Amino acid sequence: MIPHQIRSFLEIWKKLPGLGPRAATRLAFFIANMKAEERHALREALAGLDAMDACPECFSLKEEDRSVCAICGNTERKRDLVAVVEKNTDIITLERAREFQGTYLILGDLGTNGILEEHHRKRMEHLKKRIEKEKGTIKEVILAMGPNALSDMVYEMLKRDLSPLGVSVTRLGRGIPTGGEIEFADEETLKSALRRRM
Ligand SMILES: [Zn+2]
Repeated sequence: MIPHQIRSFLEIWKKLPGLGPRAATRLAFFIANMKAEERHALREALAGLDAMDACPECFSLKEEDRSVCAICGNTERKRDLVAVVEKNTDIITLERAREFQGTYLILGDLGTNGILEEHHRKRMEHLKKRIEKEKGTIKEVILAMGPNALSDMVYEMLKRDLSPLGVSVTRLGRGIPTGGEIEFADEETLKSALRRRM
């Protein structure tokens, strides 16, 4: 018998990625058994996320009261280079490799169903507009994703749309496993894949 308080958690958590029903139930009971002050800290951390929203340039998270995220707003970053990634955690992975100095665009998780969704297309359109708006500043767009059917498609589409704007579209060199997410690549592999981009 699952108490209704726990069940209401499961309703929310079934939408979270990577959390199956058993793990979700375990986690809900774990939280229910936490000390009140630990649960309070958890609540505070969650509430803190309300002060964040999407960066209008790269769709990464930013502080609500800033106009852009920390990377887009950093004048030390190279403005001529944009890496297209699937998700926020890919940015963290790339930053950890300390090789890429440009800015980003988050395309959205490509998923496994082999279909390019409307929101992916919208992000690509957004990138095109950003390139046009920045008039010749952006010289290269790197598709920073592992090779698979869908990222191949994205690569071809970016090349078709951005080449006429004088932007070269490249992708990571060998080393990222086929179908592999860059999140799972080690720093050295990523570094060399970035240097040997093609
Ligand atoms: Zn940004």
